[in-house]
Amino acid sequence: MNEINPKTPVAGSCPICGKPVEPAFKPFCSKRCADIDLNRWLSGVYAVPAKDDEDEAGERPAEGEAGEK
Ligand SMILES: [Zn+2]
Repeated sequence: MNEINPKTPVAGSCPICGKPVEPAFKPFCSKRCADIDLNRWLSGVYAVPAKDDEDEAGERPAEGEAGEK
């Protein structure tokens, strides 16, 4: 009873394309997907407009404006 099911995913599926993970490129299915993820991650880090968010979320100069809520 040591059958190995070839359809058993190694560790789930590639987060990029959903194909079975290739052990050599864990957790991706290929170098291509690893690169894609890396690029995504890098551009995400540098592309996130954090300033925009902060501007609206938090520090407003108190001008005595009682508006919404
Ligand atoms: Zn993939």
